[in-house]
Amino acid sequence: MVEENAKSNLFQNVSEDDWHNWRWQIENRIHTLSRLAGILNISLPEADRYKDVIETYHFSVTPYYLSLIDMSDEKDPVRLQCLPDFRELDYLPGSSDDPLEEERDMIVPDLIHRYPDRCLAMVTNTCAAYCRHCNRKHRWKEPKPKHFRKNLRMMIDYISQTKQIREVILSGGDPLMLKIETLEWFLHSLKSIPHVEVIRIGSRIPVVLPMMIDQNLCDMLQKYRPLWLITQFNHPREITPDAAGACEMLLEAGIPVMNQSVLLKGVNDSYEAMRDLLYGLQRISVKPYYLFQCEPVKGVDHFRVDVWKGMEIMEKLWRNISGLCMPRYVFDLPGGRGKMPLQPFSFL
Ligand code: SF4
Repeated sequence: MVEENAKSNLFQNVSEDDWHNWRWQIENRIHTLSRLAGILNISLPEADRYKDVIETYHFSVTPYYLSLIDMSDEKDPVRLQCLPDFRELDYLPGSSDDPLEEERDMIVPDLIHRYPDRCLAMVTNTCAAYCRHCNRKHRWKEPKPKHFRKNLRMMIDYISQTKQIREVILSGGDPLMLKIETLEWFLHSLKSIPHVEVIRIGSRIPVVLPMMIDQNLCDMLQKYRPLWLITQFNHPREITPDAAGACEMLLEAGIPVMNQSVLLKGVNDSYEAMRDLLYGLQRISVKPYYLFQCEPVKGVDHFRVDVWKGMEIMEKLWRNISGLCMPRYVFDLPGGRGKMPLQPFSFL
C-alpha cells in the first residue's frame, strides 16, 4: 500500500509498463540535488546543504525503492538506507574507509584472496542504488578502470592458476549491474576452470530493482549452477510483491537465494523489526544467512548498534521464532581477521 501511495504521489504519470521496466527505472534514478529537493519538499538553497554529503558519497536511488518510503516519516527505515544524511560526514575516531583491510589481500586488482578455498571478485563499483550504510562506500567514486575487461581477465587468470580456490564470490558494487554479456563471459570463464565448483553472486537488485530479475537473466544464470545469490533485505517493508516475484524467479531457475542483513540503527535494531523481516524472508523462501554487526566504516557510524543490543535481539529471536528463520549474527573483525560469531546466551 505504501508503494502505491508513494508511486501515485511521486510518479503519477508513469505507465505501469514503464514502472515495471528495469531500463526505465535505471534511466530515471534520482541522483541530483534538485530532485532531492523535490522529494524532501524543500527549497533548492535548503537542499544545497546536502551538497558536501553527495559530493563525498554518491546519491542515486531507483524510483521503485524510493516509492517504498513513507515520506511523512523522517525516520523511515527505507529512507535512512537510501537518502543522504548529514551524519555521514561525522566520522567517529577509529572508523576508517577500509576497516577489513580488503586492499591488503588484493592479489590482482579488485580480487581479494583471504581464505584459502574462496576468493571475492569486485567486478564493478556501480550499484542500482547506493546504500548509505555500505561498507565499501569509499569505492563508489573510483573511476571505472581504463582496462576493465583486462582486469577481469587478470582475475580469471589468477583463479585458474590457484587450484585451492573452489568458490568464487562476485561482489562489487553490484555484479548484476554489469552488461549481461560481460557477466555471462565472466561466469562462463569461471565455469571453464575445473577446480571452481561453486559461484556466489552478492546483489541487492532483488531489493532495490527487482524488475531487473527477468527470465532472460534467470535463463543465463541457470547455466552456471551451482550458483547462489546472496541478497540483502534489511527491513520487512522491502519484501514487496515485486521483490518476492524476483526471488521466486531465481528459485524456479534453481538458484538458491539467501539473505545477509546488516544490523542498522533505526532500521532493524528491534526484536519486532527483525522478527518481521525474518518471517517475511521465510514466507518468500529466502533463507536468512548472516546478520552482520555494522563495521566501523567512515560515513556509516550513525548506523552502528551496540553489540549487546544485537545480542539481546538475537536472544529473544532464539526464544521465540523458528530455527529455520535464524541467521548467524557475526562481526567481520577489523584487520581482515575473519568472521567472529556473536552467540546469544541466556540472560534470564
Ligand atoms: S548494493 Fe551493496 S555494494 Fe552497492 S551500495 Fe548497497 S551495500 Fe554497497
